[in-house]
Amino acid sequence: MTEVRRAPWTLMYHSVDDSREDPYLLTVTPRRLARHLAWLTDRGLRGVGVGELLRAMADGTARRLVGLTFDDGYDDFRRAALPLLLRHGHSATVFVLPGRLGGENAWDARGPRKRLVDAAGLREITAAGMEIGSHGLLHRDLTAVHAVTLLAEVRGSRRRLEDLTGAAPAGFCYPYGAVDTRALLAVRDAGYEYACAVDPGPLACRYALPRTYAGQADTGLRLRAKRLRHRARRSLLPDHPWAAPMPRPPEEAPDLPVLPGGDT
Ligand SMILES: [Zn+2]
Repeated sequence: MTEVRRAPWTLMYHSVDDSREDPYLLTVTPRRLARHLAWLTDRGLRGVGVGELLRAMADGTARRLVGLTFDDGYDDFRRAALPLLLRHGHSATVFVLPGRLGGENAWDARGPRKRLVDAAGLREITAAGMEIGSHGLLHRDLTAVHAVTLLAEVRGSRRRLEDLTGAAPAGFCYPYGAVDTRALLAVRDAGYEYACAVDPGPLACRYALPRTYAGQADTGLRLRAKRLRHRARRSLLPDHPWAAPMPRPPEEAPDLPVLPGGDT
């Protein structure tokens, strides 16, 4: 019989910056983030990376934990978010793009351009105890790419992060939250242990975890409402037989395709 558990509450952030130009509503100010972290602490909650959250769920110790995620790997995470997380005793998962290290968010047509973390910054974040996950190589919609590109994005990014940090990442995060069965199975078969989506609907499982958007407009009151809504919805995480972790991750892919901007 398929087992069903409630999805853990996981907040989704992107950039942490004082910039006012924010057409995609992806930025919170450091002050707003500090308030969110204090709000969690005041309620006896602790923010953790998603890998830690899932391990705690398996052990039955996740009751006071909330997942914190930062997508895209903006360099402002290192400068603005990291000191706040450490001060408040929280941690997080940062989903980075190893095909764009030290580059910019060129995929966002309307900007503003923001710097992405480089290899040194990535190591700094890892050394500070944060979890690094993959957001693919270049921020592509994985439901709209050729199968060869899909493999390069999923497997190539994992291998590059392993080279950079010394450990293969456990987590993946679908760019734009775009996930379908093909992308989900590619992520699972690449050896990841979990993947984050946004609102995956019937695909929800450990390879398509739902997350709650957290933005600049979210006061404590709104966070409370979002938490209650999450609990009321009882987002379910069925253990689909087809979405079980692979028994042994295939670390070597002998036919890994090489693409421009892909794995080399
Ligand atoms: Zn993204």
